[in-house]
Amino acid sequence: METMTLPARGISREDLLAKLSALKAGDSDWQGGRVFSLVYNAGPDVAAIAREAYSTFIAENGLSPFAFPSLLKMETEVVAMTAGLLGGDAETAGSMTSGGSESIFMAMKAARDWAREHKPAIVAPEVVLPLSAHPAFNKAAHYLGLKTIVTPLKDDLTADADAMSAAIGDNTVMIVGSACSYPHGMIDPIAGLAAIARERELWLHVDACVGGFILPFLERLGHPIPSFDFRLAGVSSLSADIHKYGYVPKGASVVLYKNLALRKYQFFAYADWPGGVYGTPSLCGSRPGGAIAASWTVMHYLGEEGYLRLAKEISEATARLLAGVREIPGLYILGQPLGSIFAIGSDRLNIYALGERMKSYNWFIDSQHRPPSLHMTIMPAHNQIVEPFLADLNRAASEVAALTSDDISGEAAMYGMVGSLPDRGLAKDFALEYLNDLYRFRSPGP
Ligand SMILES: *Cc1c(COP(=O)(O)O)cnc(C)c1O
Repeated sequence: METMTLPARGISREDLLAKLSALKAGDSDWQGGRVFSLVYNAGPDVAAIAREAYSTFIAENGLSPFAFPSLLKMETEVVAMTAGLLGGDAETAGSMTSGGSESIFMAMKAARDWAREHKPAIVAPEVVLPLSAHPAFNKAAHYLGLKTIVTPLKDDLTADADAMSAAIGDNTVMIVGSACSYPHGMIDPIAGLAAIARERELWLHVDACVGGFILPFLERLGHPIPSFDFRLAGVSSLSADIHKYGYVPKGASVVLYKNLALRKYQFFAYADWPGGVYGTPSLCGSRPGGAIAASWTVMHYLGEEGYLRLAKEISEATARLLAGVREIPGLYILGQPLGSIFAIGSDRLNIYALGERMKSYNWFIDSQHRPPSLHMTIMPAHNQIVEPFLADLNRAASEVAALTSDDISGEAAMYGMVGSLPDRGLAKDFALEYLNDLYRFRSPGP
């Protein structure tokens, strides 16, 4: 690898801050509502208090609850508030983690170790999950030595409880449902999965990473949200990301368990190290105090009322966008999304070319496949952009309708190619090669 040297002398604060601003100039404009994933923006006042809280605890380390009892207190309160929101009771227990992937990793690790104790006959444990489950499950399974059995979705893009039930075998330890799923915003039939989990004595994890801080408020606003949380007795664990609809900067999620006995399988302790008895709740050793403090602060700042107000804005923006997209010839909405996420498909247009065209109009929309679609996670700021967005989408759709396949190039063509490769191993290799190359240092040149 070509390397880079540190600057011989430090650069001034002014110069560096100017450089940071310049670096940012090429990024997607999430403040203006032009991004439909990745950043959950609740407006400048929430961002400001989150920043202040984060920087107040920017140096403190959540690794030691003894050195920083403040962080222990805030973390336990954040977890308790999240449990209160998600149907928990006096038994519910949990931890903060760095994000949805770590929350899912911890729940799978706990389920694996629970099964080692309660189902000792199983040597090659399996997890049954729907196709729409987040890749964090496949990733954690890869790390933890668990085998995943992926089941197809029903036509309405929710998990097929019958197919999952049929895929459960002697080695199954865990099943998974999402509320809601990231690709299409569908709420899986969690009550049905909970019944299966109870009957077959399996661990059910509910992935409410993206839904956990929005669905409860939509429910309170009268939306028909089916039960998905600890109000269902068969739910063993649940993940909810504060750094999504909790509106806290990245590095904040909660993983909850039905009770302390289940949470214990998550923890790690090593008693023989010369550095002392070492114990941690989750994957990380050192943990950023800022994420804990920002979570605690934003949750108190917004309160029930603030989250409800934001959910109402989101629900209005979503309804207006859904109605507008449905009016554009050639476009449709995948399934019947109940929350704040949906996917746009087309039976006539190349959807990836449509995404590219929208990018040229400065809208950043992620492409998805199986089936091809564009991803829309709706935030409060999107209420301000409904009309210009729909106008551009309409224009882009008629422009793409006029394209021939020879005109379709760039990312659109690449996505189409990778999405349709019959050999999924090849598609995976392609992705790994691509990433390995992308994360190479490139010298700026002369
Ligand atoms: C975002 C998300 C995850 C993963 O969370 P990260 O914070 O990105 O690690 C898992 N599941 C669902 C449904 C998500 O939306």
